[in-house]
Amino acid sequence: METLKRIALIAHDHQKPDLVEWAQWNKNILDHHFLFATGTTGQLLKDQVGLSVHCLKSGPLGGDLQIGAKIAEGEIDILIFFWDPLKPQPHDVDVKALLRIAVVYNIPTACNRSTADYLVSSVLLQSHY
Ligand code: PGA
Repeated sequence: METLKRIALIAHDHQKPDLVEWAQWNKNILDHHFLFATGTTGQLLKDQVGLSVHCLKSGPLGGDLQIGAKIAEGEIDILIFFWDPLKPQPHDVDVKALLRIAVVYNIPTACNRSTADYLVSSVLLQSHY
């Protein structure tokens, strides 16, 4: 992994405010890296946080799978995925596929805010791994 990381960000609808607030807190860190996101999440990060984000399709329309494919191709280094533990999603199988492929490829993955804080404050974020 290079010193500039390719970070994928996804949040289910009820977790979007949490991800936006987290990204505002960590904007200075995130600004130094290449950011990818599912459609709606990415648009929020652009509009409400002012980050430069490459937006993929919305999650339910295949965005999670696009991120999974990028992981398989070696194009994503870190996954920040605030999935909703309290609501079933129409694309639950895609969510499961993404989380599985992230483990297969040993991708550092944060599924909640505290883990995301640990990830972005790691010394490994700014170094080769
Ligand atoms: P969204 O997709 O960012 O387009 O809302 C996220 C998801 O539901 O996986």
